[in-house]
Amino acid sequence: MVVRLGSLKINNMATTLSSKIVKIRKEHQCYSCYRKFPIGTQMNYWAGLYEGTFNACYSCLTCVQVMNMDTETEFPEGYVNEMLSKGESPEQLLERLK
Ligand SMILES: [Zn+2]
Repeated sequence: MVVRLGSLKINNMATTLSSKIVKIRKEHQCYSCYRKFPIGTQMNYWAGLYEGTFNACYSCLTCVQVMNMDTETEFPEGYVNEMLSKGESPEQLLERLK
């Protein structure tokens, strides 16, 4: 079963407590593509329990869209980064998947 809450979907090992789009107030690294984003960027903040442990992470909106295109897959850390072809950006990946 896939849990879909807010704009970020997490696999069934996770319980979502909070998932929302926020404007970041300090630099954050995207959980999925590992890019760093500057203050003021809109990112998806997710907080919840993963295998019983509290976790919180930020994902860029491009990665959220990539993850939302797949209804079954689990999304471990670095998920989008690993899907990229050499030299491809997450935005190009998103276009390729559309
Ligand atoms: Zn990202």
